[in-house]
Amino acid sequence: MTNRSPLVDTTDYPSLASEIASMAHGYPYADPPELLGRIGSEVSADPGGPHGRAMLAALWASRWYVHWKIADRELVTALAEAAERAEAALTAAGCAGGHEHPELADADDPEEMAALIEMIGAPGARGTAEAAACPGHLALLAADTASALRSALRQRFGVPETDHLDARYLTADGRTAFDALITDLERQRRSQVDQQAQSAAIWSARRLLAAAPEAERPRLAIAVCLLAKHCYWSSTAPGIVALYRKALATVDLTPREEPCSHREGHPGVKLAAPPRPATPDERGELCPRRVAEQVHAILAYTDDYMAS
Ligand SMILES: [Zn+2]
Ligand SMILES: [Zn+2]
Repeated sequence: MTNRSPLVDTTDYPSLASEIASMAHGYPYADPPELLGRIGSEVSADPGGPHGRAMLAALWASRWYVHWKIADRELVTALAEAAERAEAALTAAGCAGGHEHPELADADDPEEMAALIEMIGAPGARGTAEAAACPGHLALLAADTASALRSALRQRFGVPETDHLDARYLTADGRTAFDALITDLERQRRSQVDQQAQSAAIWSARRLLAAAPEAERPRLAIAVCLLAKHCYWSSTAPGIVALYRKALATVDLTPREEPCSHREGHPGVKLAAPPRPATPDERGELCPRRVAEQVHAILAYTDDYMAS
């Protein structure tokens, strides 16, 4: 959490509703992961109680923000579990009948969704507010929230399988077939991620993590850097960026501080697909110092992306 972000009192329902609406519009004043983390714990602590119900409404109104903007897998998992716990408790409590539930499940306006927090939190709620706070009604919103967050976990934190690519990227004796790998990486030319190039980078990241032979590591590291560099432009799923970062963290960065044979350094070397094995590395693209510099830069760049 940054120092500048104000802490929102989650029992001040009008302020919370206004903060949740701003956040859903993309202009939070508070720190969203911090606030959402507290909302999730408060839902989990007392899913059926009056405050827990108001917090469920807050979580429900935040579900698409969480789906698209939260890059912390543990936080999204905790929020999905809180919604599931609320669904179970509220379903068990059920609806006593005698009222009509508001049609809120289709609401997509942030103010309209956040208004539910205030409605539910109002003391001695009667009429529409009482029906909105009804466990039978809130159980549906809890289910809606749990489903949105579970789909976020699948879509945003899952990493595509690449086992089938072993047939293409490994030689008969188990070495990396760099010509095939580089051909696919070279497809990455525009700002939009090329899916085949992305699969090649994911495969390379897994190869680095599976203790790739030393001689293969510089090219594999550059392959991962190339696609990691595109994370902002194409909103790469945080699960994939996390895998890239884990793989890059295995690269030895000490050569960054050591002299190399390139007296001018590597200012002319742009991030592109690594050179093919048959091509002489005239510009020092695979120089350990250049690779360490590149990896260091991409680790900083993706750290910002994951925190954004
Ligand atoms: Zn009811
Ligand atoms: Zn060098």
